[in-house]
Amino acid sequence: MLHNNLDPEVAEHPDELVVYGGTGKAARDWASFDALTRTLRTLRGDETLLVQSGRPVGVLTTHEWAPRVLLANSNLVGDWANWEEFRRLEQLGLTMYGQMTAGSWIYIGTQGILQGTYETFAAVAAKRFGGTLAGTITLTAGLGGMGGAQPLAVTMNDGVVICVDCDPRAIARRIEHGYLDVRADSLEDAVRRAEEARDARRPLSIGVLGNAAQAVPRLLELGAPIDIVTDQTSAHDPLAYLPVDTAFEDMADEARRDPAGFTRRARESMARHVAAMVGFQDAGAEVFDYGNSIRGEAQLAGYERAFAFPGFVPAYIRPLFCEGKGPFRWAALSGDPHDIAATDRAVLDLFPENESLARWIKLAGERVRFQGLPARICWLGYGERDRAGERFNDMVASGELAAPVVIGRDHLDCGSVASPYRETEAMRDGSDAIADWPLLNAMVNVASGASWVSLHHGGGVGMGRSLHAGQVTVADGTRLAGEKIQRVLTNDPGMGVIRHVDAGYDSAETVAAERGVRVPMREG
Ligand code: NAD
Repeated sequence: MLHNNLDPEVAEHPDELVVYGGTGKAARDWASFDALTRTLRTLRGDETLLVQSGRPVGVLTTHEWAPRVLLANSNLVGDWANWEEFRRLEQLGLTMYGQMTAGSWIYIGTQGILQGTYETFAAVAAKRFGGTLAGTITLTAGLGGMGGAQPLAVTMNDGVVICVDCDPRAIARRIEHGYLDVRADSLEDAVRRAEEARDARRPLSIGVLGNAAQAVPRLLELGAPIDIVTDQTSAHDPLAYLPVDTAFEDMADEARRDPAGFTRRARESMARHVAAMVGFQDAGAEVFDYGNSIRGEAQLAGYERAFAFPGFVPAYIRPLFCEGKGPFRWAALSGDPHDIAATDRAVLDLFPENESLARWIKLAGERVRFQGLPARICWLGYGERDRAGERFNDMVASGELAAPVVIGRDHLDCGSVASPYRETEAMRDGSDAIADWPLLNAMVNVASGASWVSLHHGGGVGMGRSLHAGQVTVADGTRLAGEKIQRVLTNDPGMGVIRHVDAGYDSAETVAAERGVRVPMREG
C-alpha cells in the first residue's frame, strides 16, 4: 500500500513523495522510503514498526494481535502547531505533512473521495433541487487529487458543473482519467456550454483554466446563472493556493523564496474568492465550504463574512456520522479488477435493501477507472462494515478472490477526527475542538487488532486545526484475520456512534439503542 500510494497513476507528484492534498506525503524522504520497504519486507508477525512522520524509527517485539505498523504524522504540541513552525521543522528534516491517507498508506486515488462527494451533492439535490441536480449549474475550483472527484460526482447526480483550476495538467489528468468531460477555452465559453447542457438537462462537467480568486468574482459580476458554489483548492495550506498576482509557473519558486509574503498574498486572494462565494449566496445560490479551510484563511485576511456559509459536514453529512457511517474502502492486493467486481457483488448481496448503495456500486462499476491497485469505496455504518469485512475475508479463504484485500478508511470518518472547521464543526454540545476522540479512536483500533494504525495532525484543514486517526486491516483469509476484522470494523465505527451520542444527537442514541452500542452514561 505504501508503493500503491506512490504509484504514478495514484499520486499527484510521486517523484517528491507527494500523494495528494497539497504536500501530503507517504514517506519523509527517499532514504526513509527505502528503509521502510526494507524493514517491511523482513518484519515478523510479532513485531511492530514505528513510523515518526514518514521515517521508520524502530522495530519492537509485540504480539500477533498488535498492529504491524504504528504511524504518527505531523503532530506538534498545541502552542507550536502552526505552519511556520511546522515548515521550520520540516526544513530541518524532522517532520513531514501526512495529510490523512497519504502518510497512512490507504490513499486509493480520486475514487477514495468520490462517493463522499457524490453523497454530498446528492444531499444538496435532496435539500434544494427536488432530488436531482438535472437542470442546475454548480461552480467550483480545484481539480487536484481530491477536488478532481467533484466533476464526476456532479454529473453522476445529473448536473452540470464548471471547475476552475490554475494548473493545465490537473485539467488534462481529470479528462484522461474520465472524471472531467471537456475543457472550455474561456469563462464565457464555459458558461455558454453549461447553459446549453443545463437547458437540455444533460449532465456535463467543464474544466476551465484560471485563478479561482479571479474567476469566481468575475462570474458573479457577469451574473452567471450558478445554483451551487463550493471549492476544493488547496486552501488549507496558503503556500499551495495561487495568489492572483502570481503566474502559475512561478508559484513554487515564489512560495519557497518568500513564504511569509506568499502566505499574505494567498490569504488576500482567498478573501476575494470567499467574498464572491458569499455574493453568490446572497444571490440565492446554495454555497458550502468543502473541507479545505478557505473560510478560516479568508477570515485571517480580514474578511468578516467568511463564515456566512456552512461547512459540508453540518450541512449534509452529520446524520450519516450519527449512524457510524463513513468512507469504508478496500483494495485488491492481487491487482486483479475481477476481485473488486466480486466484492461489489458481495456488497450488493449483503445489503439488498440499501438502494442508494446499490446505485452507487453500479455507477462506480461503470464509471470509475481504477488508479493503481483496483479498489472500491462505499459508505457503510455500524453493523455493516464488519459484515462486509468478514465476507471479504471468507472470499479470500475460499479462493474466490485471487489474493488478500486491505480494508481501511479515510481519516474523515464519524469517530476518528477532531476538526472544528470540518468534521466537528458546530457540534450540538459545542465540543468541536475536543481532541480526545481521535486519540481514543487510535487506541481502540490498536486494542482491536488493526494491521496498521495512524494518528495525524493538520489533515484536510491544515496545521493547528485538526487531529485524526486511521486504521487499515488486512483480510488474508485466516481465522485470526477474521477475528480482528470483526472487532476492528465493529469498534471503529462504534466510536462514531458513541461520539455523537455523547454530543447529544438523538439519531445516534437511537442507533446505539437499536444496534447494542453500550454507552455507560445512558445505562442504569
Ligand atoms: P491538490 O493539492 O491535489 O489540488 C489542489 C488544486 O487546486 C490543484 O490542482 C491546484 O492547481 C489548484 N489551485 C490552487 N490554487 C488555485 C487557485 N487560486 N485557483 C484555481 N486553482 C487553484 O489537493 P486535493 O487533494 O484536491 O485537496 C484539495 C483541498 O480539499 C485540500 O485543502 C484538502 O485538504 C481538502 N480536502 C477535502 C476533503 C473533503 O472531503 N471535502 C477531503 C480531502 C481533502
